Amino acid sequence: MNKGKQLYEGKAKKVFATEDPELLIVSYKDDATAFNGLKKGTIQGKGVINNRMSNALMRMLEGEGIPTHFVREISERDTLVKKVQIVPLEVIVRNISAGSFAKRYGVEEGITFSAPTIEFSYKNDELGDPLLNEYHALALNLATKEEIQTIKDLSFRVNDALKAFWASCGVTLVDFKLEFGRLGDGTIALADEISPDTCRLWDSKTHEKLDKDRFRRDMGGVVEAYREIMGRLEKQMEK
Ligand code: ADP
Ligand code: UDP
Repeated sequence: MNKGKQLYEGKAKKVFATEDPELLIVSYKDDATAFNGLKKGTIQGKGVINNRMSNALMRMLEGEGIPTHFVREISERDTLVKKVQIVPLEVIVRNISAGSFAKRYGVEEGITFSAPTIEFSYKNDELGDPLLNEYHALALNLATKEEIQTIKDLSFRVNDALKAFWASCGVTLVDFKLEFGRLGDGTIALADEISPDTCRLWDSKTHEKLDKDRFRRDMGGVVEAYREIMGRLEKQMEK
């Protein structure tokens, strides 16, 4: 399958058409952004890591019965995926307080919740991805009631599977963002990516950050953290 016309260039990936109208190729870049694009940089080798990691995790989730867009890894940066109509919601699941949750509610980072939380943002760069609730999503016709229910159910199942997997790597899954889309027949499938760009991943013992927060917060050791988390995943996948 070859890359056709470039359909879109986003902050972290490029999207290409293929000869099959139902399939796309996503190409992962090393570009990194934060704070709604205000902070820009590159993380050497990130594209290769995020591509491989997202694919490995999506394959695992497929094994758990979760429909995903993943079809086949084409090269170290390129993956063939099913084209979906993206539901313009960023779905955020949290197990531990961090980031915008800690800031918004005035709590410290690192508080483990008794049950995971879920929240939605309207995926709209111009508006800065504002937080919204299910009623707002319905009012804006972003998804149907049934689709929102499916998205919530799938997101918590993804959390259970990812939390268990990362725990086996000595990593705590703090929070993450998912995007879903509609396949041709209307089925809701997990799309976009699951990577250190979209998840907070802390070493279980030391709580060292092994994700994009190192870039966002200018902590240094960004490339090393991405390599470390990928190494943990690969070691666990070999077992
Ligand atoms: P952004 O658009 O936020 O800058 P990216 O650089 O990651 O993000 O660009 C990838 C784009 O492709 C995103 O807008 C994402 O919603 C979209 N996308 C991801 N998976 C699929 C898919 N399977 N079908 C169609 N669009 C997808
Ligand atoms: N996240 C993401 N894309 C976004 C916003 C958030 O992938 O546009 C991820 C982020 O990496 C973290 C989780 O979603 O794992 C929760 O992010 P939070 O709401 O705390 O926002 P942030 O601290 O990034 O502003």
